[in-house]
Amino acid sequence: MDSGKRQFLQRLGALTAGAALVPLAQSGWQLQPARREGDSKKRMAMLIDLRRCIGCQACTVSCAVENRLPQGQFRTSVLQYQVSLTGQDSTTNVLLPRLCNHCDNPPCVPVCPVQATFQRQDGIVVVDNTRCVGCAYCVQACPYEARFINHETQTADKCTFCVHRLDAGLLPACVESCVGGARMIGDLNDRQGALRRALDEHQAQLKVLKPEQGTHPQVFYLGLDEAFVSHVRGQPALWQEVHP
Ligand code: SF4
Ligand code: SF4
Repeated sequence: MDSGKRQFLQRLGALTAGAALVPLAQSGWQLQPARREGDSKKRMAMLIDLRRCIGCQACTVSCAVENRLPQGQFRTSVLQYQVSLTGQDSTTNVLLPRLCNHCDNPPCVPVCPVQATFQRQDGIVVVDNTRCVGCAYCVQACPYEARFINHETQTADKCTFCVHRLDAGLLPACVESCVGGARMIGDLNDRQGALRRALDEHQAQLKVLKPEQGTHPQVFYLGLDEAFVSHVRGQPALWQEVHP
């Protein structure tokens, strides 16, 4: 798409963003296009074991390098929350790696006016940058602030689980670089796979972010203590138990 047309559509999108989202949300109109690309027998997901995360940001850096992100923009990062413990004056830090959750019901997909954002058959949510007009509807629709408009491409950007690497038989950059071995990726449908077995083993302790949104995140967290969670300062409780 030429830059003049893209700029025009971006301005149009900025003007009409709120107006377009309201009727879609109110009508409950299901616009999600058919899934395409990827292996339909697979459902890719990630497990992040917070007990192993040391907050080194190796994932943040390796992702930025792998995906050639503009300075200051990131597809994943490790956020720090200061929490107080029940009945104690002391505080402690909780590290929380964040990225796109590759939701099973992704609200970012149906709002895209040109179907540039779509979900692959293996569940991975991606953006076709040759179609994206940079209207940022999807950025607004994501409840996890996982998306942004790339300063250089002027199109939507976010974690893709490094799908280009997965398709080549490699691990995502964040998984490969994780110093503590906190991130694991795999196919939920592979009952004998390492990810499926880890999820089954820790089923009662698993949590996802903002489950009340109905997005069905496919990034699962292990090691978040409920006692910490309900005391995150200035933050609503983000976690609940899940059983994938
Ligand atoms: Fe879409 Fe946000 Fe869910 Fe990722 S986390 S699939 S960007 S709604
Ligand atoms: Fe707009 Fe996002 Fe679709 Fe790009 S991917 S056209 S920014 S809704």
